[in-house]
Amino acid sequence: MVFRIAVVGSGPSGLYSVEALLAQQDVPVAIDVIDRLPTPFGLVRYGVAPDHFSIRSVRDKLTEVFESPSVQFIGNCEVGSDVSVADLREAYDAVIFTYGAARDRELAIPGEHLPGSVAATDFVAWYCGHPDSAPEAYSDLLARATSVVVIGVGNVAVDVARVLAKNESELRATDMPLHVLKTLANTAITDITVLGRRGPAQAAFTTKELRELGELTDADIRIDAEQLELDPLSAQLAAENKVVARNLAVLTEWADRVPNGKPRRIHLRFFTKPRAVIGTDRVEALEMEGTALDASGNAIGTGVVEALPVDIVIRSVGYRGIGLPGLPFDADRHVIPNDDGRVMGPTGPIPGCYVAGWIKRGPTGIIGTNKKDAAATVAALLADIESGIVQEGGVRESSPRGAHSVGIAGWRAIDEAERSLGHAHGKERITIHDRDTLLSIAGSA
Ligand code: NAP
Repeated sequence: MVFRIAVVGSGPSGLYSVEALLAQQDVPVAIDVIDRLPTPFGLVRYGVAPDHFSIRSVRDKLTEVFESPSVQFIGNCEVGSDVSVADLREAYDAVIFTYGAARDRELAIPGEHLPGSVAATDFVAWYCGHPDSAPEAYSDLLARATSVVVIGVGNVAVDVARVLAKNESELRATDMPLHVLKTLANTAITDITVLGRRGPAQAAFTTKELRELGELTDADIRIDAEQLELDPLSAQLAAENKVVARNLAVLTEWADRVPNGKPRRIHLRFFTKPRAVIGTDRVEALEMEGTALDASGNAIGTGVVEALPVDIVIRSVGYRGIGLPGLPFDADRHVIPNDDGRVMGPTGPIPGCYVAGWIKRGPTGIIGTNKKDAAATVAALLADIESGIVQEGGVRESSPRGAHSVGIAGWRAIDEAERSLGHAHGKERITIHDRDTLLSIAGSA
């Protein structure tokens, strides 16, 4: 008796789910990991900044699950088009949906979609070499830009600002596609403004990531000391939360720094919210309004409005999950409704359907957060097997996989090709960006 389990998504939450299933001895399992991309690892490959080498190396550990004879990879197979949720429920005893939160959250301000106003989710995908993103997508924009504003003060905003501010030698060792590296190395960007609608004590970035902004070869960091004066609410936050206190210490040190005339500047501006992206055919300026915090810590406009001339606006205000036909979806929270990982339908848990990761809890936490999260979901599934809610459904003919799926041998061929390309340029790997190239390499495996 073997339980057939599908895991939809091969990012950290998917592969940690597989790891948890393999780690237990009570229930024999055969697991198919299904991903719409030809390559595994989700945001570890296409979200973690290429210069964050140690975080990206998590994939060296995650990849070990594919060594197990009980695990198959079915890449380039999109649930919703190549196969349906109903197909999966028919073919497997249980399905764990771990497909993340692929879209950007909207700002809902005029001009948000003018050319030159870019979602950070798309920009990050491009510099990581995501096959959905056209290799030349930002070449023209970046070639003519001198000033960029990044809206949001989370870790993605910090990543984007840092990647834009680094020079070629700081990016050279990364596995970015060569054309991305070349485009980034040749920008004329001088000013990058990172905008927080609330104060520094309310910022979402973490200290290690923040600190890196002050350590760049070609960019001075600028912050006005006035922005660091704390209202009682922020002072309380700093007293109670070590991350906030550490962030403020870093920012305070920067406010005292004398700029040393580097060719680029990163300006951190808090208490400023975007009101409109201005321009006729493309972004020309960002209209912004000063803010103050109300008693609950929300940003309230002060009525003081200014227009900051900019060439590019990068909207980095969080990711957003989307629904799948055949599954319930909470359209307010952008997650699949669940009770500790069990997908909840109108009348209770849907037998055999589970969720883990960002589509379960929303786009928060670091990669390691998904390990615990996935383990909790797998524990719920194993409990349901134990209690008989999930039963073994007998032998099926084959796994549903769509017409052009990529198996583990195909991925290994891509992996090998990326390593060879990297070695030819004196580094460990170079990401292959173009989907057709990925598929043709995988097809020849
Ligand atoms: P995030 O941490 O949720 O930050 C979103 C930022 O956007 C916040 O500063 C938020 O401000 C701001 N924002 C939201 N709506 C806004 C609006 N309408 N106008 C202006 N600002 C607005 O999201 P993220 O940066 O996309 O990161 C997602 C997750 O990935 C986080 O858990 C993050 O830590 C993680 N991550 C980690 C790393 C790393 O560890 N190195 C790297 C990248 C991402 P408010 O607080 O005022 O809403």
